[in-house]
Amino acid sequence: MIIDDQHYDVIIVGTGAGGGTLANRLAPTGKKILILERGDFMPLEEQNRSNVDVFKKERYRSSERWYDQDGQNFSPQTNYAVGGNTKIYSAALVRMREKDFEAVEHQEGVSPEWGLKYQDFEPYYTEAEKLYMVHGKTGNDPSEPDHSEDYPFPAVEHEPEFQTIVEAIAKQGLHPTSLPLSLTREEDDPTGDSEVFGIVPALKHDNVTLKTSAKVVCLITNSSGEAVRAVEAEINGQSYLFFGDIIVLACGAINSAALLLKSANHKHPNGLANSSDLVGRNFMKHNQTAMVELSVNPNSGQFLRSVSVNDFYWGDENFPYPMGHIENTGGLLQDIIFAESPPILSVLAKGMPGFGLEQLAKRSIGWWLYTETLPNADNRVRVDGDKIYVDFTPNNSEAHDRLVYRWIDVLKAGEKNLGGSVFEKLAVYPRGEVPIQTVANQCGTCRFGEDPQTSVLDLNCRTHDLENLYVVDSSFFPSSSSVPPALTIIANALRVGDHLKSKI
Ligand SMILES: Cc1cc2nc3c(=O)[nH]c(=O)nc-3n(C[C@H](O)[C@H](O)[C@H](O)COP(=O)(O)OP(=O)(O)OC[C@H]3O[C@@H](n4cnc5c(N)ncnc54)[C@H](O)[C@@H]3O)c2cc1C
Repeated sequence: MIIDDQHYDVIIVGTGAGGGTLANRLAPTGKKILILERGDFMPLEEQNRSNVDVFKKERYRSSERWYDQDGQNFSPQTNYAVGGNTKIYSAALVRMREKDFEAVEHQEGVSPEWGLKYQDFEPYYTEAEKLYMVHGKTGNDPSEPDHSEDYPFPAVEHEPEFQTIVEAIAKQGLHPTSLPLSLTREEDDPTGDSEVFGIVPALKHDNVTLKTSAKVVCLITNSSGEAVRAVEAEINGQSYLFFGDIIVLACGAINSAALLLKSANHKHPNGLANSSDLVGRNFMKHNQTAMVELSVNPNSGQFLRSVSVNDFYWGDENFPYPMGHIENTGGLLQDIIFAESPPILSVLAKGMPGFGLEQLAKRSIGWWLYTETLPNADNRVRVDGDKIYVDFTPNNSEAHDRLVYRWIDVLKAGEKNLGGSVFEKLAVYPRGEVPIQTVANQCGTCRFGEDPQTSVLDLNCRTHDLENLYVVDSSFFPSSSSVPPALTIIANALRVGDHLKSKI
């Protein structure tokens, strides 16, 4: 074991949306900050604008295996690199709706109230949108919450092929609106992520050190068990011990919970910060469906996501429960639909013999549909030695099915509006459950709240049980909402960063 002779004010574990953003927030304080990241810098060609081959080979996934509740192993959809999953995400940075912070009745139960409200997050959403250069437009979506300032950059234009489709949807009385996107405006690296907007600016400060290929394997407490004293990491096959005053986990909701559980000791026999027995529980991931229309006319296959539809977010007159959020996929040559649901291509390929993947992608118009899942204590992350188990039984599925049917109706009516000659086929994937390995929008494994009996973290995202241990990834979510999570993780990291500034 090599003992690092430095003492840090703050040690941050992980560089994704939470960790990368927090590093950026704390860097100007001049305090000594160590960032430990198990991955390395990701070569540009492997990032989210990669080609079909890269996605088909799933090169970006870790070789690690996790286990489902039946003990079957699977390859998790997670990316270990500087920037974490934001290096492969679609950069759609969407605010949760005001009501998402309240207790909301869903068809299958109640999604719990948050201890903080939209108004508490609003200033940080605004800052997050500035920091991540979000391009968007307010005013067209009735579900959009109030913004104290407009988006810092104008929304991206729809691909011409998409513009007509958007108009056909609007003709049905719906409100297709611009999807807010983080963009760097750099040609060779257009997508904004937590490496570009978090880690790179943080490293300009001499007081910040980043160690890559540094996998944290254990947190070691002091003898009273009241605080974390040291962080153990493996770097190039060697064990290192790092010491810091404040330790912040930002490993992603599954890995942070697993690390807390693996760090059990005689003072914390069920895992660190786990006196409530809630660490790892209430794991959530969205109900998700991809739809692809095969159009008669080709498109470039390489364009950004640009539109979202939230008209069914809170339900409609025939189904008075929340249904969810819809956004288009980007051009399918670059969109992660390849990564998330490769089988859709074989579905399409069967219907279109003679077409290669690339031609199919150039004829496709895709959509993603997302519905909230409800927290359930039995949906949980567990560990057995080094093995990570993810127990998950989906819920709130009927609400998602309704959204799927609504959207099929909208697309079919849209086809009619367009003269019926634009699309040849519509494919829906998956029919039924989202595979366990799709953990892109994971959250909830260390929920925050005021009561140590019913939450793992307090409202500043400090663990109730250990005085110097924080978690700033998506673990803190008490409910998942139906919008993608990254903007809320980023806004929260800025908020927790402000709290930590007063502590260090
Ligand atoms: C294909 C895909 C598309 C997506 N698209 C969108 C989108 O358009 N909009 C959106 O809002 N969200 C999207 N998401 C989700 C979004 O990327 C995540 O919600 C977000 O990145 C989570 O941030 P985080 O900080 O919680 O964790 P992560 O971004 O997962 O970061 C965790 C970091 O911790 C590191 N780490 C893990 N364990 C250890 C350890 N033991 N020691 C050291 N380091 C460790 C990891 O390497 C990683 O860098 C997408 C995700 C995927 C996979």
